[in-house]
Amino acid sequence: MERYANVVVAVIALLCCLQPFSQAKSLKTQLEIDERQLLNVLPSWLERLRNNLPSSLTGRVKPLSVSPDVSIRKPAEVLNWPSIELDVGQITGVAVDEKSNPVILHRGNVKWDGGSFNSAGHYAKVEDGPIKNDTIVTLDAATGSLVDHWGSNLFYMPHGLEVDAEGNTWVTDVALHQVFKFPKGSRVPSLTLGEAFVPGSDEKHFCKPTDVAVSSSGIFFVSDGYCNKRIMKFDPTGRLLDVYTGAFNIVHSVTLMEEKDALCVADREHSRIVCIHAGLKQGPGQPTFGSPYGSAGHKGKNVGRVFAVAAKGQQLYAVFGSIFLGMSDGKTFDLDSLNTLSRWTPSNGFGSPHDVAVSRDGEALYVVQIGPNSIHKFALE
Ligand code: ZN
Repeated sequence: MERYANVVVAVIALLCCLQPFSQAKSLKTQLEIDERQLLNVLPSWLERLRNNLPSSLTGRVKPLSVSPDVSIRKPAEVLNWPSIELDVGQITGVAVDEKSNPVILHRGNVKWDGGSFNSAGHYAKVEDGPIKNDTIVTLDAATGSLVDHWGSNLFYMPHGLEVDAEGNTWVTDVALHQVFKFPKGSRVPSLTLGEAFVPGSDEKHFCKPTDVAVSSSGIFFVSDGYCNKRIMKFDPTGRLLDVYTGAFNIVHSVTLMEEKDALCVADREHSRIVCIHAGLKQGPGQPTFGSPYGSAGHKGKNVGRVFAVAAKGQQLYAVFGSIFLGMSDGKTFDLDSLNTLSRWTPSNGFGSPHDVAVSRDGEALYVVQIGPNSIHKFALE
């Protein structure tokens, strides 16, 4: 398999021309996917590469996908933020706490590579123990200086982060196959779902769960995840209420727009965003959990290799990971139609953006990356 994967990497390097072989190989390990997945996603990469070539080379007329609208609050990079240099590993999650400060989740010295999991989805490095670093770091929204850090010896390969309206911290761990809720100020989880290191697809197990979205009533949603194809809905005590199973290929991120009863997911390897109803509104005639939201319906919208989504008002923000030819970017979509409203990147471009969060007041947007390990702040003007 390794030899086969190397052939694929060589093909990628050849096709990209501008990427030396050694770079392409190191990029392979940053992709957070194993070789088999690499083979699956190669066609979509090539299609994306083709879409970004000049029309003079492809003979195609590229449609204008960004509609100009002066009312759209296009994210503007905040330069020289954060003010400190962060000593962190791969930053996989970002959220905004109840004080509007950004909170990040990182993996210390642990990286997801081809040897991290066996073919049955079990974590292969349990004997290495949990991550020793403080994996959860709170930064000051204005300056980016350090506000708080905790989360050592808790996680093996954390992935998704959420801070709910009450200040509770939620983490998913793909090695543990578990979801945790930490009450505000506590370092001990008040809720643990899933069985440690045991992947599964029944009501008591997850398989590499990716993300959590929490409603104001405490009802929460888990995207599950790398191997299962479902969104699970739980009551505040952790009792399973419902499951929506879609035709997903790595449901990688989930965001809730409570006032619209909309739940949108990043269906990463299908390169699409899908929005469904969260089913939070009571009463006759209200949409049920899993019914389609917006004009795209259950088919969603093909938007590119989307890693994460976050929403505020009528806008849905998403980040796209493609490390070839600088094609990683962020985009803003209309929540109902999923039409593209704007495209944005930091001045130096993105590498491998992995998560995005918008502040509760809608004034700031944060993007974190797993390579280079960095956080970027954008003002929503
Ligand atoms: Zn991921």
